[in-house]
Amino acid sequence: MKLSVVIPCYNEEQNVAPLQQACIDAFADTVDSYELIFVNDGSRDKTGEKLKKIFEENKDTKIKMINFSRNFGKESAMFAGLEASSGEYTTIIDADMQQRPEVAVQMGKILDDHPEYDMVAAFQEKRKDGALLSKVKTSFYSVINKVSEVNLIEDASDFRTMRRNVVETIISLTE
Ligand code: UDP
Ligand code: MG
Repeated sequence: MKLSVVIPCYNEEQNVAPLQQACIDAFADTVDSYELIFVNDGSRDKTGEKLKKIFEENKDTKIKMINFSRNFGKESAMFAGLEASSGEYTTIIDADMQQRPEVAVQMGKILDDHPEYDMVAAFQEKRKDGALLSKVKTSFYSVINKVSEVNLIEDASDFRTMRRNVVETIISLTE
């Protein structure tokens, strides 16, 4: 499997290096090739510097970096990451180490085994979001649901793995 991993990052200076290492550990023997796409969403901490270091020091891992000039929000960061992704499968994962890269491999295997599925999502059973965040998420998924025959669970996290056709469709929707 050829995997792109989109990682939206806002003030994640503590997490980007451990997550990168966790990805290397999870993917080294399990995927054919992978790229890590870090989107720095206008962080106010040292996330940008940490990412620059990762970018410069890692010769063996394919790493892409996108830097936003200010904080545009997670949805914008995810879209930018999807636009930059090239893998046959693309996973969106949080930077904060609450989601494990091994699960991306499991999701990819499900897609391998089920050509009839376009996307696999992982979700934690308990979620508590503020009303505003929920609204933003609702509108993000209403766009995806418009183009999808199967409605997505809005309470599911953004931790999901999609085929190239889904990525192409989402990025074609400029709204
Ligand atoms: N994030 C982002 N821009 C923002 C807020 C968050 O890119 O304006 C990223 C954040 O760095 C993390 C992911 O989105 O990788 C999820 O953020 P958070 O953990 O705050 O959300 P939650 O886990 O509560 O859904
Ligand atoms: Mg989180």
